[in-house]
Amino acid sequence: MIGCLQPDELSERIDETGKVNKPVNQIRLENVEAENWLTHGRTYSEWRHSPLQQINTSNINQLELVWWYELKSDRGVESTPIVVDGTMYVTGPWSVVSALNAATGEELWVYDPEVPKETASFACCDVVNRGVSFWQGKVYLGSLDGRLIAIDAQSGKEVWSTLTIEPGQPYTITGAPRVANGLVFIGNGGAEYGVRGYVSAYEADSGALRWRFYTVPGNPSAPPDDAASDQVLREVALETWTGEWWRYGGGGTVWDAIVYDPDTGYLLIGVGNGSPHDRNIRSPGGGDNLFLSSIVALMADTGEYVWHYQTTPGDTWDFTAAQQIILGEAEVNGNRRKVLWQAPKNGFFYMLDRTTGEFLSAEPYTTVNWAKRIDPETGRPVETQGSRYDSGTVLIQPAVFGGHNWQPMSYNPETGLVYIPALDTAVPWSVDPMFKHQPGWWNTGVPGPRFPPNEEVIAEIKASSKSYLRAWNPVTQEEAWSVELKGPWNGSNMNTSGNLVFQGTADGRFEAYNATTGEKLWERKTGVATLGGPVSYSVAGEQYIAVPGGFGSMLFLALPILMDAKAIPKQRGRVFVYKLGGQASLPPPLDFQKLIPAPPQLEADAEQVARGADVYQYYCWQCHGANAISAGVLPELRASAALHSEEAWHAIVLGGALSAQGMPKFEQWISETDAESLRAYVTTEARRALDSDAQQQTQKH
Ligand code: CA
Repeated sequence: MIGCLQPDELSERIDETGKVNKPVNQIRLENVEAENWLTHGRTYSEWRHSPLQQINTSNINQLELVWWYELKSDRGVESTPIVVDGTMYVTGPWSVVSALNAATGEELWVYDPEVPKETASFACCDVVNRGVSFWQGKVYLGSLDGRLIAIDAQSGKEVWSTLTIEPGQPYTITGAPRVANGLVFIGNGGAEYGVRGYVSAYEADSGALRWRFYTVPGNPSAPPDDAASDQVLREVALETWTGEWWRYGGGGTVWDAIVYDPDTGYLLIGVGNGSPHDRNIRSPGGGDNLFLSSIVALMADTGEYVWHYQTTPGDTWDFTAAQQIILGEAEVNGNRRKVLWQAPKNGFFYMLDRTTGEFLSAEPYTTVNWAKRIDPETGRPVETQGSRYDSGTVLIQPAVFGGHNWQPMSYNPETGLVYIPALDTAVPWSVDPMFKHQPGWWNTGVPGPRFPPNEEVIAEIKASSKSYLRAWNPVTQEEAWSVELKGPWNGSNMNTSGNLVFQGTADGRFEAYNATTGEKLWERKTGVATLGGPVSYSVAGEQYIAVPGGFGSMLFLALPILMDAKAIPKQRGRVFVYKLGGQASLPPPLDFQKLIPAPPQLEADAEQVARGADVYQYYCWQCHGANAISAGVLPELRASAALHSEEAWHAIVLGGALSAQGMPKFEQWISETDAESLRAYVTTEARRALDSDAQQQTQKH
């Protein structure tokens, strides 16, 4: 292997003061010490299992907060910190990195890539970041606006920065880079907007591009990309597409799972959904559309294609296979096999041979109705008739959120179980008769969610949207135990040799369960949605448990209608750190009661309001919330003073008066007439909220 150091370089790594003596190199990354969390999933296997056991089932009741650190934003937090020899590197919203003393929380440095705020309009699911990687004294960050940045781990100063995307294209980076043998691997997101997915490898020292692999074919009449993917796209993928998909980008973004397998030298990538979502637009003659919704194995040093397995052929439901990939070993029909496990959005838990890509087994880990099963002979789903919504609206399970989304799951080699932060939700799918391709904007080809303004119906949808911590035997493909969490969205988990699973929740708690039985042993309130990846590490012989939490994220931006919006704690993101006998405490949570002030008198007819609702559904719900209901992350439009002034409203919506705060100008997409309809619609919703509040007040008295 390239870049390997001699084993003696592993000795005396840390001196008495905890100072780093040896660099993080390939040997260390393949042999992560128990006290560290050196890479996104702790090790290359992405088990998120810490061998530490000082904190265990018998003393967990003494686990208390020892320090907390405020991330400087109330936007979404999806980060997993890494811990290198007593220093924690954690990312917050807007791709800001903080280096902290892992024992005390003391801030060592903060690196802010100063992402332009208007980038937010290209981020489907808030301005989140899932973490950094570490190699030879440098921290590697993918910034929301598409840069890959190397930061000096001691000083926090930028060493190099390279733009990984074409300027102006609606790509974003939210995922953690990965490093192996001196190469940094990074993908991107943007398939809801209409982009073409790819993954790239850069030299860790210089930032020079080594190779790039596109996941879907480009325009066949254009010259080849001169990329590692050229041959396989031409010979394997091209024939699985029809129509003029390249006009829409095609999708297939590699926005999360990028896993180096030291046993094979392969880089395993999880590929995202199609763009637009509706296959009939993207590829009207049908077809599997390789390599959408697939796991693809590449040679890590060259990007050369090795094998692929497609979880959802001809994806039409936003069923990404970008979810975490875990490397394991399993006894299959009497043979020891090197396997991988994945629980992608489509609801099936997969076991594949990771040396060949051979399909071994798949069973549903949550409620699935789009397919009956995965055919064991072909490895292809047996689809339910009508599930492609070409003959009318259908309720599809899992919903667009997936049976499991970006929230990391974990594997415990001692219990042999994978702990899945599972979701059980359903949303209707239908074609969008109004669809027109709008380059640079949301292009899913399906209508955004619009809930009937009926409290009972909404209460029913809320009640049927469930989240679970589900322990799954990945070899026998059976549930070992399952506990219901709260709300329609989920946090992440990790487990330890203390026989514990730590799980965060969307409603502001951090919990621990017995890893064998699922018995709940511990819970502390964090006061903020605790979605980030928990980690464990030790400093000077003392074990710590850490978890980042924050407001924002897709649920709180787009769908607070599914939560009790007024009960959601709003405060800045934080990293919460616990140890046995910790003595810290949190300040009281901010009181968040957003009252809707009286909206202006409406001078619009029903037709104009309906048009405004359509416009809202195209351009606004993604950030300001379905049905114009906000959780308060972004300004509550129903409370906007600009509703009272046509001039002010147009200056903001069309003219970009608030672009410095991240509100893009929409003049290229929304006409003045439509902006007025939009104002009429939001005013109507404000009036409805006011009337409903007044009604509730009357009922109370
Ligand atoms: Ca998607």
